[in-house]
Amino acid sequence: MKHIPDKRANRLAALLSAAAFGLYASGSAADGEQGSTAARLTAFENVRLVTATNLGTIESATLLLDGNSILQVGAGIAVPAGARRIDAQGKTIVPAFIDTHAHTNQSRESLLRDLRRLAVFGVGTVASLGVDTSDAAFDVRDQPVDGAARILTAGRGITAPEVGRETAPIWITSPEEGRDAVRDNVTRGVDLIKIWVDDRNDRYPKLDSPLYSAVIAEAHASNRQVTAHVFELSDAKGLLRAGVDAFAHGIRDRDIDDEFMQLLAQNPVVLNPNLPARGVATDYQWLAPLVAATEIEKLEQASNRDADARAFFDLQARNLLRMHRHGTLIVLGTDTSFDFPGGDKPWSVHEEMADMVAAGMSPLDVILAATRNAAEFLQLADRGTLAPGMSADFVVLEGNPLDDITNTRTIAAVYLRGKPVDRAELP
Ligand SMILES: [Zn+2]
Repeated sequence: MKHIPDKRANRLAALLSAAAFGLYASGSAADGEQGSTAARLTAFENVRLVTATNLGTIESATLLLDGNSILQVGAGIAVPAGARRIDAQGKTIVPAFIDTHAHTNQSRESLLRDLRRLAVFGVGTVASLGVDTSDAAFDVRDQPVDGAARILTAGRGITAPEVGRETAPIWITSPEEGRDAVRDNVTRGVDLIKIWVDDRNDRYPKLDSPLYSAVIAEAHASNRQVTAHVFELSDAKGLLRAGVDAFAHGIRDRDIDDEFMQLLAQNPVVLNPNLPARGVATDYQWLAPLVAATEIEKLEQASNRDADARAFFDLQARNLLRMHRHGTLIVLGTDTSFDFPGGDKPWSVHEEMADMVAAGMSPLDVILAATRNAAEFLQLADRGTLAPGMSADFVVLEGNPLDDITNTRTIAAVYLRGKPVDRAELP
């Protein structure tokens, strides 16, 4: 199964007609409902909208919300009487960001903290890729919490035996075990299947073709996509032959070649490039005052000039650009590991977006990867764009990220499902 644009289009059409009805009701004074409808309406006016739709970027526009969803988007919209009006002159609104690759915590309390921290940085949805041993991610997915990002989950990822990684992954050594692992995950209600195909620097035998082929076939039979942690080009080729749906990292051992591109043409996989550190000294002052000065100092000390890191980045940047130019659907994913010491970095999406621009993508293409494309991959019909009928998940920015991608960091406000996120401090 591939990501399914048709299903998405159908659901979108249904949402659009519902929104059109809502608009009609709000314009009808005679039915006596105008007051209650208008009370739900909020208009952001005189604002630049990066819609992430075919309408592109609209200047001096209005974003009209009806409760938790978007009612109208565009220039020259007549704001109904009684609506709350917010003058957002000079600001830019983008859809809330979607991180297709993270690892969140297992207790409900710590998971909600992760999701609230993500929301502060403009992340509206995150996919937890393969460490969910508890039910917390499933519960919060089914009952989202205000002020927190929404979550999808791959349950427990599937890998070959790797000593030291016993708790979360399901170890398999035969195709039958692979199919069982998929069925267990599907029974739990996962949104997608995660696999690791990596020998971790020659330390372990990795998941081989008969095993991952069985996993992919079983996942597709259950209508689930498979996203693969991959490192080497040879494995990426095997995964393409087996019909994998997405790479949860780029190819990291060598430049991709013509044979890979031919396989890609036959199996148009989705790529989350998840670029490594750029090997440059980095200024983290933009995190103040949400992050403590001591923490910022630690981050800056950890970032330094490193030629090997730079070469590793450049290799993955070349591979990303070649797939991007080929037309591969590129999505944002950070691999942020809240469950790992030192991995609790809810701001990672902003670093990743800057890295993708440094790799050679345009700021607009990067915003699309972080919004519309990620929603398309995760089959989220109500998120990823500013369009009528969509969930009111968006970020108000002081600066224009199309001029400079680091302007995604100039967050004035975050709205999730129509409600402003409390950004006074980082939970
Ligand atoms: Zn990961």
